[in-house]
Amino acid sequence: MIVGHIANKTPFSNYDALYYREANSNPKHVAIVGGGIASATLVASLAQRGIKTTLYCKDNEPAQGASGNRQGAVYPLLNGEHQGVSRVFAPAFLYARQFAEQAAIRFDFDHDWCGVTQLMWDEKSEKKLERMLSGKFPTELIQRLDAAQTTAAIGVESPHASVNYPLGGWLCPAELTKFNRTLQDLWNAHGSLQQRSSISDADRRRQMANIAKQV
Ligand SMILES: Cc1cc2nc3c(=O)[nH]c(=O)nc-3n(C[C@H](O)[C@H](O)[C@H](O)COP(=O)(O)OP(=O)(O)OC[C@H]3O[C@@H](n4cnc5c(N)ncnc54)[C@H](O)[C@@H]3O)c2cc1C
Repeated sequence: MIVGHIANKTPFSNYDALYYREANSNPKHVAIVGGGIASATLVASLAQRGIKTTLYCKDNEPAQGASGNRQGAVYPLLNGEHQGVSRVFAPAFLYARQFAEQAAIRFDFDHDWCGVTQLMWDEKSEKKLERMLSGKFPTELIQRLDAAQTTAAIGVESPHASVNYPLGGWLCPAELTKFNRTLQDLWNAHGSLQQRSSISDADRRRQMANIAKQV
């Protein structure tokens, strides 16, 4: 055990802020404000832990805000130094993809893990994307493609090289938002949720966990 004392306290730094509240360690019912994908995924996560939620939203329907997009790209925001957002987004992307895959076992929503490709279409984007590649990430997360490989990957003639996120893809956030609320409806009605998974899910989770260890 290490014991010590603070010789010089910085004024006010050791006190809780006025708005600080201890988190409830055993919540039974949680109020959530908003009807977009952020609150809907929180609703689903809480439902899986057996916690009821009440959603407050100023709109009549879910996904009327930014999450109303019909198509959203899913890929990690990385940088060559692997600092800041990159350190959050690399594992968060893997988590989000797994979350969406588990959702897809239960409900239909439009999505495709077709990979995401960003073209080095001018000098500025080339510099930015090459810098990103200097982070030496696992190639399952991000890889460089020359023009011919890019053409083969996207199925459209490309004179440009690119970076490609092989595990990336797209999904319909509006549909996923509605699915997650349905999950909570099921929980509220029946008080239990059956987890379903398949062998390929387990394999996929192992693959994600291996990549996550590297980032
Ligand atoms: C054009 C566009 C393209 C995008 N493309 C992508 C993409 O390709 N990939 C990607 O990952 N992200 C993309 N994004 C970002 C992504 O859509 C948002 O980050 C995400 O939808 C935010 O979700 P949210 O649940 O936080 O907010 P929202 O979906 O905006 O939901 C907020 C909800 O809260 C409600 N609300 C707000 N204030 C109150 C209040 N006081 N009381 C009650 N209700 C309230 C609103 O009415 C709304 O329903 C894009 C965004 C836009 C606009």
